Amino acid sequence: MAKIICVLYDDPVTGYPASYPRDGLPHIDGYPNGQTLPTPRAIDFEPGSLLGSVSGELGLRNYLESNGHELIVTSSKDGEDSVLDRELHDAEIVISQPFWPAYMTAERMAKAPKLKMIITAGIGSDHTDLQAAMDRGITVTEVTYCNSHSVAEHVLMMILSLVRNYIPSYNWVVKGGWNIADCVARSYDLEGMNVGTVAAGRIGSRVLRLLKPFGVKLHYLDRHRLPDAVEKELGLTHHTSLESLTRVCDVLTLNCPLHPETEHMIDEKALANFKRGAYLINTARGKLCDTNAIVKALESGQLAGYAGDVWFPQPAPKDHPWRTMPNHGMTPHISGSTLSAQTRYAAGTREILECYFENRPIRDEYLIVQGGHLAGVGAHSYSAGDATGGSEEAARFNK
Ligand code: NDP
Repeated sequence: MAKIICVLYDDPVTGYPASYPRDGLPHIDGYPNGQTLPTPRAIDFEPGSLLGSVSGELGLRNYLESNGHELIVTSSKDGEDSVLDRELHDAEIVISQPFWPAYMTAERMAKAPKLKMIITAGIGSDHTDLQAAMDRGITVTEVTYCNSHSVAEHVLMMILSLVRNYIPSYNWVVKGGWNIADCVARSYDLEGMNVGTVAAGRIGSRVLRLLKPFGVKLHYLDRHRLPDAVEKELGLTHHTSLESLTRVCDVLTLNCPLHPETEHMIDEKALANFKRGAYLINTARGKLCDTNAIVKALESGQLAGYAGDVWFPQPAPKDHPWRTMPNHGMTPHISGSTLSAQTRYAAGTREILECYFENRPIRDEYLIVQGGHLAGVGAHSYSAGDATGGSEEAARFNK
């Protein structure tokens, strides 16, 4: 019998939903690279229901308990008096989502001598100290591709909302006004602009593809070059340095993982090389950017806008400067947790658990760390090391 701790975000303030705005979800055949959607033997939830909050339990309780395991589900994850810290001592598996991450630091792993696996129900395992997981032989997995398209759609929404000045214009309507000049004095067409992505992986490539019909000039920076045919089809310019990319881009979107090589890649020095009035969209990870450098760039006008859904730490403290900086379009971390995405990553989490308990191999696509090394997808996209430093600050949210 194993003890599994599942850290999920809180239920809606009005309580767990009794109904939803739509019935069911559209059918999706598979992912563009031929990877199949998650293939658990069964699921015990209704696709399209709220699974990522505490009462949704990722739809795992019936499966785990009927196989004799213990499931603890909690949103209490930060500070030494958290349920997570209290329960860790004999846990075999910890599951959490990047939206409400259980920061699995070396100190936490040291408190959990029986810990065998950390599952990211979603994509992005930077909330786990990957080096410590390697040192302790703990397997780290995530549900690759489950929400890549969800995030790409969000990126597009945020690009358009910044460039068209959507949020301030919406606010004029809500406050009963009609000041068109105020709305349009910061509003442009996207058409003709140079738009670039840092990384052209699953999300970055999808963003490029979605942008193509807008008549923009597309750029990307990635360690590996996309196939010639894709570059031609989308009219892409490849860049080998951040500086060369930022020098030409009117809009930049960050779509790379957070690991020691990418931490704070957008700092004051990098921002000085942006075109004046560029827009920056970050739905990848908050720590890719230096928090105060972003604030300063918005205040000076070096950036015309910044939007995204990722912060560090999460939840962001109530006085986090990104909540109040000018010309931002931030949301809490939501882009990869649509009801559609939740269905996929809950099923993927179940698939990983079934493989683990039945001693079947976990797909390479889902492996980040195994057997003391970066493995599978992790060996391709991550570098060894730790990006969790400072995560104890998340406890300030409740103070
Ligand atoms: P992929 O692994 O498909 O793509 C990541 C890409 O980043 C790869 O192409 C990789 O390049 C590239 N990369 C890695 N390091 C660098 C670097 N130093 N410079 C330039 N490119 C680099 O992942 P996804 O596209 O699915 O996801 C990307 C990230 O988005 C996740 O790691 C996560 O942090 C974030 N995310 C956010 C979500 C949200 O809800 N906001 C949800 C899902 C993901 P190469 O292939 O050449 O090694």
